[in-house]
Amino acid sequence: MSSIGQRAFASFRSFRKEGEVASAARSTSLGENEIWKHYNLKNGIIIIMQALEIVIMFIFGASIGSFLNVVIYRLPRKLPFLRFGERSHCPFCKKTLEPKDLIPIVSFLFLGGKCRHCKKHISAQYILIESITGLFFVAIFLYSGWTWQLLAQFAVVSFAIPLIVIDARHKIVPDVLSLPFIVVALVVGLLLHPHDWISILLGGVIGAGFFFAQWFVSKGRWIGSGDIRLGAAMGFLLGWEHLLLALTLAYLSGTVVAIIALLFRLTKLKSTIAFGPYLLVATIVAFFFAQPIIDWYLDLIWIVMSPV
Ligand SMILES: [Zn+2]
Repeated sequence: MSSIGQRAFASFRSFRKEGEVASAARSTSLGENEIWKHYNLKNGIIIIMQALEIVIMFIFGASIGSFLNVVIYRLPRKLPFLRFGERSHCPFCKKTLEPKDLIPIVSFLFLGGKCRHCKKHISAQYILIESITGLFFVAIFLYSGWTWQLLAQFAVVSFAIPLIVIDARHKIVPDVLSLPFIVVALVVGLLLHPHDWISILLGGVIGAGFFFAQWFVSKGRWIGSGDIRLGAAMGFLLGWEHLLLALTLAYLSGTVVAIIALLFRLTKLKSTIAFGPYLLVATIVAFFFAQPIIDWYLDLIWIVMSPV
C-alpha cells in the first residue's frame, strides 16, 4: 500500500488520540490545550506537506508530458526531437514561442488554446497529454511513495504514452521509441523482480515470438513488425505469466471495441486498426494490477465452480 496513504491515516489517527493528549499533559507541565495545539500544528504541517508532494508530482508529470508532446509531434514527421537549444515554435505561423507560452497546461488555458500571434487553434492533445501524464505521475506516487520503484514506473509510463498516441494516430511504432523501450522494460523487469529473471527472459522471447509468428505467417498483413518489438518489451516488463494476462486483456478489449465500432458503423470491417495501443494499455494495467486481477478471476472461478 501507499506510504502516503498510511501516513495520512496515521496522522488522522494521531488526531484522535485524546488519551495520549491527556497523558502527555500529565507527564509534562503543559496544559491539554497547549498539547492539542501542538498536535493540530503537527497534523496541519503533515497534511500541507502531503498536498505539496502531490502538487510537485503533478507539475513534474505535466512537464514530462510537455516533452512527450514534442516527441509525439515530431517523431512521425521525421523531425529531430532532441535538438538542444532549438526553441519551440508555432506549427502554423512559425513564430518562436516565449517561455511564458511553454508552461504546461497553464499557457494553454491562458491563451484559450490559441497561438498568441496567429490565433490559430492549438490541438487539445497538448493539454490532454500534459494533464494525463501529470495525473499518472500523481497516481504512481500515491501507489509507490518515495521508493526507487517510482522512477522505474515513471519511465515505463513515459515510454508507453507516446507509443500509444503515435500508433493510434499514425499506425506506426517508431524504432526510436520501441527499441529503447525494450531495454527499459528489461532493466525495470529485472530490478523489480530479480528472482523471476527466468520468467522475465522467457516473457521477452514468448512476447516477441508470438507476434513474429503472426507477422511471418501473414507476411506482415495481420500485424506490423512494431508489434514484435512491443511484444518483447511487454514480456520483459511483466514476465511470461503476466504477459499472458496482458495479451488476454488486449485481445478482449480489442474485440469489444471492434464489435462496438461495427455495431455503430464507426468503422468498416476491412479497415485496419492499430493494435499497439491495446497492447500498451493492457501492459500498463497488468504492470500495476496483475495480482489483484488474477485474484479476482480465481475468486470468480471458485464461486462459479463451488457447489451451492
Ligand atoms: Zn501561430
